[in-house]
Amino acid sequence: MRNVAIIGSTGSIGTQTLEIARDNRDINICALSAGSNIDLLEKQTREFKPELICIGTYELAEELKLRLKDVDVRITYGMDGLIEVACIESSDILVTAIVGMIGIKPTVAAINAGKDIALANKETLVTAGHIIMSLAKEKHVSILPVDSEHSAIFQALQGNTHGDIAKIHLTASGGPFRGRTREELKHVTVGDALKHPNWSMGKKITIDSASMVNKGLEVIEARWLFDVNPDDINVVVQPQSIIHSMVEYRDGAVIAQLGTADMRLPIQYALFYPERRYLRGDRLDFSKLSEIKLEKPDMDTFLGLKYAYEAIKTGGLMPTVLNAANEKAVALFLQEKIQFLDIYTLIRESMDNCVNMENPQLGDIFDMEQWVYNFIESRCR
Ligand code: NDP
Ligand code: MG
Repeated sequence: MRNVAIIGSTGSIGTQTLEIARDNRDINICALSAGSNIDLLEKQTREFKPELICIGTYELAEELKLRLKDVDVRITYGMDGLIEVACIESSDILVTAIVGMIGIKPTVAAINAGKDIALANKETLVTAGHIIMSLAKEKHVSILPVDSEHSAIFQALQGNTHGDIAKIHLTASGGPFRGRTREELKHVTVGDALKHPNWSMGKKITIDSASMVNKGLEVIEARWLFDVNPDDINVVVQPQSIIHSMVEYRDGAVIAQLGTADMRLPIQYALFYPERRYLRGDRLDFSKLSEIKLEKPDMDTFLGLKYAYEAIKTGGLMPTVLNAANEKAVALFLQEKIQFLDIYTLIRESMDNCVNMENPQLGDIFDMEQWVYNFIESRCR
């Protein structure tokens, strides 16, 4: 039996994790959490019968208690509740399907409690990668990547030796705006940015894909997950999202993982690693693949990628600044309070104005997150 807790069960990754649970009888769902979607959390609770669930606020928790009074489940709320879900005694593994830096505290708590982590919540590794990876080592827990590119790299690393890695080639679809100029990006709308060509995902990561900040966050995520130098991580645009990423070894061999654009595969691989199980769904049909294109990313237009390389090379709190500024800017863009290119401007200004430090601890990371939010609010008044 695989005993699984999920933070962010009502989102894109969360619901696909539950699809895997539906198809695999030996998954037991111990605990679930959502921010505000009580309708879906109620439905999931009735279907999967977790011991514990958590929702964003006290008021929503009270409402859920009324709705679920015929069900034997404990209901909590807020950050304390999220941490309880992450650390629930009966679980073996936590799926971090929540979006944003809110995932840091529950992830750290789960590692301290000895839980393996199926990590989708990349913002946690981007900002606190140095803390998370060394804590995981100390506590002997596995951090299993769910992000499709990182799962592909993880799969391509199996049976090989870390010292033999020459380069990681992280693939990117290029998003809905691939090939556009800066001028053409000036007036794109939220609706335009939400039209991802290949993947159906939550709103925040879909905007991040359009700006290519997502690929920048993934470079930093790869740096921590696989302990590689940022200079050895190369981003290559592969618009069809068939090659999910590649590892080049020192003898010149390149090992890639290919597949359809279906997040259930990396989720299932993380849950059952090292076992591979049957997965319902389409298979790659090589006869229909007329060509797989590979291109260089346009880092002068899609500045998110350029800034991410700068942030990870500078180190300290700079990845936190990049990530927090992006979280805030994307929220403002989704509310139609700023234009698409302002996302880059706000990241740049935050990076230029912050006071960096070496080897930040969790408290420093949260202080910097707050500084960035205040800074951007003062800029956007
Ligand atoms: P979604 O927006 O679809 O889902 C986010 C989940 O987190 C929802 O369950 C949401 O609850 C919950 N949540 C959001 N804010 C809060 C909060 N303040 N307190 C408690 N819960 C909250 O995101 P995705 O599933 O797309 O992404 C999740 C993570 O996985 C992100 O870090 C993303 O970068 C990463 N990822 C996603 C991929 C994908 O295909 N979607 C691919 C690779 C990585 P509610 O529904 O109630 O709002
Ligand atoms: Mg990805």
